Amino acid sequence: MGGKCPHRSVKKRRYSHKTARRTKFLVKGDDMVYNELAKPEVERPSLPVDEDLPGMGQYYCLHCDRYFANVSVRDEHFKTKRHRKRVKQMLGPAPHTQLDAELAAGMGMPDNGPKLMAM
Ligand SMILES: [Zn+2]
Repeated sequence: MGGKCPHRSVKKRRYSHKTARRTKFLVKGDDMVYNELAKPEVERPSLPVDEDLPGMGQYYCLHCDRYFANVSVRDEHFKTKRHRKRVKQMLGPAPHTQLDAELAAGMGMPDNGPKLMAM
């Protein structure tokens, strides 16, 4: 019951379970974030104070759809590779264009199960 499987010595998951779940359920779709970023600053809703969120929901990374406990944590996050990658991705052409094109052409992605690596 529980514990490690004695037969498996190789770790399959690269991320913690929490991260895997977050990417699966909590993060907005790339296209949603992209649309959000495409709006002029004034049209973005100001951050509502939410006691359930870290830092009362006041420290938010729009690109990654993540909340942070305080401004220094957020600034640290802005320096991370993951965030920069995300920003780059959002500055490029609209997300999923290639995938959309392939889907439109009837070439769906092969179902390889959930992704283990972030893009
Ligand atoms: Zn970010």
